[in-house]
Amino acid sequence: MASAATQLTTPIQFIKGVGPARSKALSQAGIETVEDLLYYFPRRHLDRTSITDCKDLKRESVVTIVGSVKSCGMRTIRRGKLFQALIEDGTGFLTLTWFNGIGYVKKSIKVGDRLAIHGKVNFYQGFQIVHPEYDKLDIDSEPLSTGSVIPLYPLNQTLRSAGLAHRSLRKFIRNIQNKLVDILDFYTEDFKQNHYLIDRKDALNAIHFAKDVAHLKKAVYRLKFDEHFFLQLGVAIKKETLDKIGTNPLNKTGPYAKLIYDQLAFELTIAQKRVLKGIHDDMKKPVMMNRLLQGDVGSGKTIIAILASAIAVGNKVQVAIMAPTEILAQQHYKVFKKYADIAQIPTAILVGNIKSKERKSILDGLKNGKISIIVGTHALIQKDVEFEKLGLVIVDEQHRFGVLQRGDLVSKGQNPHFLAMTATPIPRTLSITYYGDMDISIIDEMPKNRIPVTTTVVQPTRLSKVYNFIKEEINRGQQCIVVYPLVEETEKSDLAAAVEAHQELSEKIFPKHKVGLIHGRMKKEEKDKVMESFSNNNINILISTTVIEVGIDIPNATIMLVEHAERFGLTQLHQLRGRVGRSTHKSYCILVQRNFTDLGNQRLYIMENTYDGFKIADEDLKMRGPGVFFGIKQSGFFNFKIANLISDGKILREARSASFALIKDDPALQKTENVKIKQHFQKHYQYLLKNISIG
Ligand code: ADP
Ligand code: MG
Repeated sequence: MASAATQLTTPIQFIKGVGPARSKALSQAGIETVEDLLYYFPRRHLDRTSITDCKDLKRESVVTIVGSVKSCGMRTIRRGKLFQALIEDGTGFLTLTWFNGIGYVKKSIKVGDRLAIHGKVNFYQGFQIVHPEYDKLDIDSEPLSTGSVIPLYPLNQTLRSAGLAHRSLRKFIRNIQNKLVDILDFYTEDFKQNHYLIDRKDALNAIHFAKDVAHLKKAVYRLKFDEHFFLQLGVAIKKETLDKIGTNPLNKTGPYAKLIYDQLAFELTIAQKRVLKGIHDDMKKPVMMNRLLQGDVGSGKTIIAILASAIAVGNKVQVAIMAPTEILAQQHYKVFKKYADIAQIPTAILVGNIKSKERKSILDGLKNGKISIIVGTHALIQKDVEFEKLGLVIVDEQHRFGVLQRGDLVSKGQNPHFLAMTATPIPRTLSITYYGDMDISIIDEMPKNRIPVTTTVVQPTRLSKVYNFIKEEINRGQQCIVVYPLVEETEKSDLAAAVEAHQELSEKIFPKHKVGLIHGRMKKEEKDKVMESFSNNNINILISTTVIEVGIDIPNATIMLVEHAERFGLTQLHQLRGRVGRSTHKSYCILVQRNFTDLGNQRLYIMENTYDGFKIADEDLKMRGPGVFFGIKQSGFFNFKIANLISDGKILREARSASFALIKDDPALQKTENVKIKQHFQKHYQYLLKNISIG
C-alpha cells in the first residue's frame, strides 16, 4: 500500500519497515500517521559546529560533546550510590554522573560506546555533567566523520524498548519522503516571499535531513513560524470577534472624575496619564473595552481604576471591582471609598462573609441603582447579585481568577467595558499570546517620590545584626514583615515554621515589641483583625506565610525580611519586595539565604541587582518557563513542537503581524487563497480559541 501512494494521512503501519509492533509503540508516542512522523521533530541536531571539544570546556556552559566511554561503573559515597562514566574525545576528558535512574543508565552504557552528550558543565575533581542528556551514536550518525547534520529524536522508554533508535526513525522518514505524493503548502508564494519562508515540503525534509546548518536554520525558521502563525491566527480571530461586541459608549466625562482629580495629593505620572487616556478613549467607543492594565507593584494602578470608575459613574452606569482575596477587596474598598466620598459617589463592599441583612441591603442598592461602585470578591458573581446598569467591570490581579468567573461578572451587565489589572509584569511574548485578544496598557514608570528599596542577601550568621537593625527601625516608628515560604512536605509545614518563628521572635528576640502572626489557615475574622492591628501600627513585626504576597498596602512597613529566600521564585520575591517602599521612608528587603544551589544563588543575585519588574519577569521566564505566570493547566496548552515562547521573540512578532494582517483583510478566511490556511487551522489549532484569555 505504501508503494501505491503515501499521503500525509496514511497510517504509519503501512510504511516500509514499521509493521504492527512498532506502529503500536509509535502510536503511544502520539505518532499515528505519516504527517505525525514528519512532524516528530528532532530535539537537537548534531553537526561539527555545534560540538565542543573537551579541551574547551568551561564551568556553567551548556555544551554538546561527542566522545567514547573509557570506563564506567558504580561508586559509593557518603550519601549513597552514584554511577559515573568517563568520556574521552581525543582532546580531553569529561565525567558523567548520575545520582538517580542509575539502573537504566547502568544497563545502557558500556565501555567503548560512542555518545553524544548534552548538559551543563560543572567542576568537581575535573569537569563533569550531572544527569546529562545522552544519545548513543551509530556509524551513520557520526557527525565528525560524515560532516553532515545529524538529527537526534526524543526517544522515550516506549520507543526504545520497541527497538526504535534514531537510526530507525531516520530510515522510516527517508522511506516516507521517497514515496510521498506531495506536501501542499498552505501559504501562497507571495506570502512566503514576504516572510522569508521556504516551502513546507522543503522544511519538513530539511528538519530531518538538512544538507548543512544554513539549510537547517531555514527549516527551523519556517516550522517555528508556522506554529506561531497559527496560534496568533487564533488570537487574531478571537480579538476580531471581541472588538466587534457593541455596547453603551461612555462618552461623557461627568463631574466626578474632575472632583477627585483636583483633590489628589500627587500628580499622576506621565505613564498614568497615558493609560488613563487610553482607557477613557476605549470607554467612549460603542464597542466593549477589553483592556489589560499592567504595572509593577507600586506603580499606581489603583488611582487609575478609581478615576476610570468615576468617569463611568459620570455616565450614569455602575462599576464593579473584583479582587481575588478578601484582604485585597477590603483594602481596595478603603481607598475607593476615600476618593469616592470626595465626589459623593455611593460605594459599598460585598464579600462572602457578611450578615444577611447587610447583604440584602447591598443587593437592593445594586439592583435599584442606589449603589454606584461595588468592590468585592467572588461574592460579586453569585447568582442573586443583580445590577441596574453595570457599565464597567474591573478585575484586579486578573490571572488569579479562572476565565469562567470573569465571564460571570461581565454577564451581569450588557457587555460592560472590561478592565483587568495585574501587577505581575508579564513578558511581552507571553502577554501577546495568553492575553493576545486584549489591548494592553503598561504603566512603565514609578511615582517620583519613591526611594528605591535596598535589597540585601544575608546568611543566617548575620541575623543578629539584622534583628538589631529591625529594632532601630521599629524604635523610629516603622514596621517589619517577616515571610516564611512553603516548605516541602517531608519537612515541617510552612505553618509550623511560621508559628515556631513567631514564638522565637516574640519571646526571645523582640520581647519588648509586638509580634503578630498571620497565615492562610486562620479564620477570616482573625486575619482581618491582625491586618487591622498591623495597619494601625499596633503590631510592630508581622510574621506571615505567603498570604501576604498579594497587594497588601501598609506604607509604614519599611522592612521585608524573607526567610529561606532561595526557595522563592523571582516573581514572587519581587512581589514581596513590593510590599515595602510604598512611602517616602527608605525601605529594605532582606533575603535570608539558608541553602546554596546554583539556581538559588542566581535568583538572589538578580534580586540584589535588579529592580525592574519586567526584567525580573524575563529572567524568571527563562529560568522556570511560562508556568511561572499562569496555572499549570494553561502553561502546557500550546503543545508547541518546535516553537518557543521564550526565545522566539522575533519570529513571534513577524508571525503575529502576518496573522493579524490576514484576519484584517479576510476576517472569515473566505478568500480562495486562504482556504488551505483555514483548513489547517481548523484541523490543528481550533482548540486554542477556548484557551485564550476571555471566556
Ligand atoms: P499598585 O500599582 O501596586 O496597585 P497602588 O495603586 O497601590 O499601586 O499605589 C501605590 C501607592 O502610590 C499608593 O499609596 C498611591 O496613593 C500612591 N501613588 C499612586 N500614584 C502616585 C503618583 N503619581 N505619585 C505619588 N504617589 C502615587
Ligand atoms: Mg494594587
